[in-house]
Amino acid sequence: RTVLRELTEIKNPDISPIETLPDVNPNVFHKRHLKKIRDLGEGYFGTVTLCLYEPTNDGTGEQVAVKALKEVKGQTSESWIKEIDILKSLDHSNIVKYKGCCTEMGESVVQLIMEYVPLGSLRDYLTKRNGLPQCIMFAQQICEGMEYLHQKRFVHRDLAARNVLVENENLVKIGDFGLTKYIPEGEIYYRVREDGVSPVYWYAIECLREGKFSFSSDVWAFGVTLYEILTRCDPRQSPRDKFAEKMEANKEPTLVIIELLERNFRLPCPKDAPHEVKMVMEQCWNADPAKRPTFEQLIGRFKDIRF
Ligand code: ADP
Ligand code: MG
Repeated sequence: RTVLRELTEIKNPDISPIETLPDVNPNVFHKRHLKKIRDLGEGYFGTVTLCLYEPTNDGTGEQVAVKALKEVKGQTSESWIKEIDILKSLDHSNIVKYKGCCTEMGESVVQLIMEYVPLGSLRDYLTKRNGLPQCIMFAQQICEGMEYLHQKRFVHRDLAARNVLVENENLVKIGDFGLTKYIPEGEIYYRVREDGVSPVYWYAIECLREGKFSFSSDVWAFGVTLYEILTRCDPRQSPRDKFAEKMEANKEPTLVIIELLERNFRLPCPKDAPHEVKMVMEQCWNADPAKRPTFEQLIGRFKDIRF
């Protein structure tokens, strides 16, 4: 092999050995081999593009999803690097898989390369045609992924149908770890105060009131995600619109939501939801975080549901 390499070097003195040898690190993606196919979606923080990665240029390339941070002002933000590191550390069948990074301009722009999840977000996927058994199966899988995340002491903080990806009709994966935080051993919550960009309709009452995010506030957000799944993400029944029906104009939304939740207003249970699912939803939205079920308990609850 050394001989071959020496021969190549002699024959092509312009090509460095780095160019001719295959990449040693499979997590390093080179910009010049990434070819854009189409846009996949965007959220508040990032844009995601479907690309073909083909370092060999022989038709053996693979499709990958490339996430870039919006408005990168010359430098890579700390929270973006954290998001990448968190995803890198996760390995579960219901969590989107990390593949690697692509850096440009020194190290100042970093793109996250993940597996391409072909059917897009649950929000775009679900329609009236999706039956109840499939909905419950998806809910169950989200609980499995969340239980794993919580075992690793991460709170997701942005669980919603838009952040769940559909691999095929039998498999969903949690994506988007942009707001995820680590809760050190012995602590119960992570305290944050954020501006108006937060997903407030998915927030538990203590998140809105005190900026306290915990494993139990993820369970609340799961309840809202379950609501979205059961309404098949019908935009006319969106959590935002359901709250808006009760809101007066010209009032600060967060304050109004707190007030409504304190008066025990909750999202209405979707029509075809079995009684057990209705109960689960109500428990996820218990005003007392300690009284909400854990994901481990929810997994058990879904297994028992008959319909
Ligand atoms: P943001 O942090 O800005 O919310 P997301 O990671 O949620 O960005 O991605 C935005 C959208 O892009 C998602 O709602 C989904 O529609 C699409 N998307 C994200 N990751 C993938 C992926 N791996 N495969 C396919 N589509 C994806
Ligand atoms: Mg998102």
